[in-house]
Amino acid sequence: MQFIDLAKQQRLIKDALDTRIQAVLAHGKYIMGPEIKEMEAQLAGYIGVKHCVSCSSGTDALLMPLLAWGIGPGDAVFTTPFTFIATAEVIQLLGATPVFVDIDPKTYNIDPVLLDAAIAQVIETGELKPKVIIPVDLFGLPADYPAIEAIAKKYAVLILEDAAQGFGGEINGQKAGSFGHAASTSFFPAKPLGCYGDGGAIFTNDDELYEKLVSVRVHGKGGDKYDNVRIGLNGRMDTLQAAIILEKFSLFPDEVKLRNKAAAQYNALLADLVVTPAVPDGYTSVWAQYSILARDANERTELQAKLKAAGIPSAVYYPKPLHQQTAFAHLKVQDGDFPISEEMSQRIFSLPMYPYIPEEDIRKIADVMR
Ligand SMILES: *Cc1c(COP(=O)(O)O)cnc(C)c1O
Repeated sequence: MQFIDLAKQQRLIKDALDTRIQAVLAHGKYIMGPEIKEMEAQLAGYIGVKHCVSCSSGTDALLMPLLAWGIGPGDAVFTTPFTFIATAEVIQLLGATPVFVDIDPKTYNIDPVLLDAAIAQVIETGELKPKVIIPVDLFGLPADYPAIEAIAKKYAVLILEDAAQGFGGEINGQKAGSFGHAASTSFFPAKPLGCYGDGGAIFTNDDELYEKLVSVRVHGKGGDKYDNVRIGLNGRMDTLQAAIILEKFSLFPDEVKLRNKAAAQYNALLADLVVTPAVPDGYTSVWAQYSILARDANERTELQAKLKAAGIPSAVYYPKPLHQQTAFAHLKVQDGDFPISEEMSQRIFSLPMYPYIPEEDIRKIADVMR
């Protein structure tokens, strides 16, 4: 059994993919070819925003808006410690200070009550300026944007939605990728919408930010590539990867439904055995991961060992919260400062999840765990 089986999806679109790839080889515009604009227009339409700026990875999709906003030393950027390193790495890379805020134990997303308190604390201390909140749509479930948007307004800070796992999720019909001032996603192969390499995109309704992102993407270009008005990067996505996304995207709306069907089957079979994921009313998850909680670290080890013995892969996202990573030791946060994240990192694990996972695989996984 595989954790994510991408081959099944490929079989469904093999001919169309080949045609798309051949078209790129024929026109030869490997950098910023026509597939880039075509894909950006399709994805912006799907998300329901004005602009999509494709880029080289989900990490650069987080870095570029922060660069465009001029985030740097002395600025506080608020995020969760229960996420992939990239979310906080980009803050540090710009010399700004990551301020971690613990998560809600049910959704694993940033806790709005603690967020409000953390911003108030930074203002009171007076050493840093609160600038940006980066909520993460962890495992495919959008963060609590109604509450987070109210807090951002109260303190006049910006929101950068990390939708690397959230692309395809919704709150009351509004798509993940459309919350806050800008949103970032990743097309890493294992994400809900993945290409066959690295890729990412930024979504925004803000025209001024859009112009800056287009500039940042190509070395801070002004009128042309050799007129440089700011410091930027080589942040472009390959034309070939856009061609692949265009074909994979044709399956995507159906795949969101299939992922939800698989999650519902897991929930029904596992609810009396472990803590299954909570999806608040009005929310849709895209199930980037199907993650459950064991009672404690020992039970998790046992369950994962049973699965492994039966040839079933499982994974722990994330075994070490970011505040406990050596890379952030200079922040001088203590063990115990983020107790929910620390507890979840001991108890959580994820089961195989992809749109085409067979029902009998899910049944087998549940049987083995039982
Ligand atoms: C994958 C991921 C990223 C980074 O995306 P890459 O395309 O791998 O650079 C950022 N944030 C989160 C939450 C992710 O899961």
